[in-house]
Amino acid sequence: MKQELQQLVDRGEFLPLMEEFYTIQGEGYYKGTAAYFIRIGGCDVGCHWCDVKESWNADLHPPTKISKIVGNAVKYSDTIVVTGGEPLTWDMTLLTSQLKANGLKVHIETSGAYKLTGTWDWICLSPKKLKSPTNEIYLKADELKIIVYNMNDFKFAEEQASKVSDKCILYLQPEWSNRDKMIPEIVDYVMKNPKWKVSLQTHKYLNIP
Ligand code: SF4
Repeated sequence: MKQELQQLVDRGEFLPLMEEFYTIQGEGYYKGTAAYFIRIGGCDVGCHWCDVKESWNADLHPPTKISKIVGNAVKYSDTIVVTGGEPLTWDMTLLTSQLKANGLKVHIETSGAYKLTGTWDWICLSPKKLKSPTNEIYLKADELKIIVYNMNDFKFAEEQASKVSDKCILYLQPEWSNRDKMIPEIVDYVMKNPKWKVSLQTHKYLNIP
């Protein structure tokens, strides 16, 4: 990337846009809600089961002016979900301020591995073992979503739940490729530990993006 363009990306005036699409939020508290998704490229967390590995290399995704991203978003929905990749790789201040200036509700899906920037109406924190969230984001998270790939993830879930605020909603979500094995375990765990709720990737069952 040319140096000038890199500076614009570093300031959050341009962002590496992987894709943007209008769909139904499939997961967590807002499941079933129509929302416009903005997927920003770039992530170095490295989850082996990641279902958007093509997002990892930001250089593959064109630096896009945020006014263009916002201009597209306002045409579709009041609810915007910024996801990735790991969107907090970048400074989200300008993107979120422009979205909110247009009266939109702005949600983020993040591992929390990097500094929290931007102004958010809803923070979905989905911590990963390979890169811990920053201390700051735990207390600001509205929902905690733990991806359960194997039995060790229940212990990780409890460790993470001990760090969030009392108002944070707690979700256990089966990793898609291992769902047949883990759904019965999650159901059993939630019935024994009802502070948790089950989250499913319902968009995948609906066969939508
Ligand atoms: S944090 Fe998200 S985008 Fe990054 S590797 Fe993990 S699942 Fe994939």
